[in-house]
Amino acid sequence: MNETFPGIVIREMPSGENGKLLYVLTADRGVVRINATGARKLTASYLKSVQMFAYSRLTVYEKNGHMTLTEAELIEGFYYIRKDLVALAFASYACEMAYISAVPDDSSVLRLLLNTLYAVSNAIAPINIIKAVFELKLCCVSGLMPDIEDGCAVCGDEAAGFCMNELEPRCAVHAVSGGEFIPLCAAARRIVSFVCGADYSKMLSFRASPDAIEDFCAFCESFMTASMEVNPKTLQFYREISRKQL
Ligand SMILES: [Zn+2]
Repeated sequence: MNETFPGIVIREMPSGENGKLLYVLTADRGVVRINATGARKLTASYLKSVQMFAYSRLTVYEKNGHMTLTEAELIEGFYYIRKDLVALAFASYACEMAYISAVPDDSSVLRLLLNTLYAVSNAIAPINIIKAVFELKLCCVSGLMPDIEDGCAVCGDEAAGFCMNELEPRCAVHAVSGGEFIPLCAAARRIVSFVCGADYSKMLSFRASPDAIEDFCAFCESFMTASMEVNPKTLQFYREISRKQL
């Protein structure tokens, strides 16, 4: 049976002599595996539709649970991601996290990744901010939103940051007892609340001081890796690459 649906290529590997195995993030099926026979030798326009990060309309022939690509039409290639090594490293990391987080019957991860790749490709904001917002939003769509506005989990006073061992906010007095502590100034806490509640199209529409941005970025990475219990290789690679470019 033939079927057509849009999706983003979030992972690819060589398969057979000239083929590729594609992992495609879709709106309602989560991540699907598609065999693209001859994908490495065909015309350039077809190649663009099935390369990493491509958002394409894919037609597949499905039999016994196996999908084979029959047609591919590029919707958006996010071409400029490939022009910058830090952008490329981040986009690869975002795709790995999308692969881990996507579930069937929920298009949230697809919409988040599309908005994120668009922001990277069009340089809407610095990569470290796009990365932090992506990490925080991914936690939100996975049901792991941080309860930053509740105050210290021990005494209820204003939170000074977040304890990553317990995954809860703590005041300055109770910060030490909670293990790894990530400080969050008031401005950074406001960004966390804003991003958690913002539409994907507005999630990068905030301004803050460099100090607040620094707190916010450190928090988002720590919170995501701690709450999802992941330490992706692509994140380590991103860290190495971005450190070298400082
Ligand atoms: Zn306290």
